[in-house]
Amino acid sequence: MDGFIKSIPNEIKIVAVSKTHSCETVQHAYNSGLRIFGENKPQELVKKYNELPKDIEWHFIGHLQTNKIKYIVPFVSLIHSVDSPRLLAEINKEAAKRNRIIKCLLQLHIAMEETKFGFSVKELQEYLSTKEFLAHTFVKIVGLMGIATFTDNTNQIRSEFHTLRTVFDELKKTTFVGNSDFCELSMGMSNDYKIAISEGSTIIRIGSLIFGERNYSK
Ligand SMILES: *Cc1c(COP(=O)(O)O)cnc(C)c1O
Repeated sequence: MDGFIKSIPNEIKIVAVSKTHSCETVQHAYNSGLRIFGENKPQELVKKYNELPKDIEWHFIGHLQTNKIKYIVPFVSLIHSVDSPRLLAEINKEAAKRNRIIKCLLQLHIAMEETKFGFSVKELQEYLSTKEFLAHTFVKIVGLMGIATFTDNTNQIRSEFHTLRTVFDELKKTTFVGNSDFCELSMGMSNDYKIAISEGSTIIRIGSLIFGERNYSK
């Protein structure tokens, strides 16, 4: 794990994806210097938040059901996976109740697989020009996130990340021009982070490379 962390350029943020792993395991990773952790289940995130050191930055990285937003809104640092207008509206609503501004990434669907959530490029462009989008004052859009197809075909992975990067650059020049908050590109997991970094990623989400394989049967 130390070797991996040292190999990542300093300006790239590492989200240690601790889903399914115990608080003890997370504490161990914390002791070795990691401070940003990612989870994809609200209940699990709340439990770990309560039990672990308070200077951890907790990121939510999975598909978020609207009825669960309220559990994470009090403390979450970044929601990576805003995949619909309705979800953003609901996050805004819950954040307003708490008087908190929540940082979010908009998730773009870049993979071949149909099961992965996210906006298409066209949906995103249309949505960003709506009045509804502009009215959300309790969320701050700080960038984009995407998940590449799970494949050994590195050309395909590279091309999907490249698409995401291109949309990101385009939005910086249009919708988010002059907005320095819009600066994060969350792409890259254990099996494809090197490609993601070479394509301009600023945040990588790493689970198995840090914690070992996940055991879902526990
Ligand atoms: C689980 C998960 C990861 C980490 O996956 P690894 O392959 O273990 O690095 C990253 N991003 C998301 C959205 C995930 O659900």
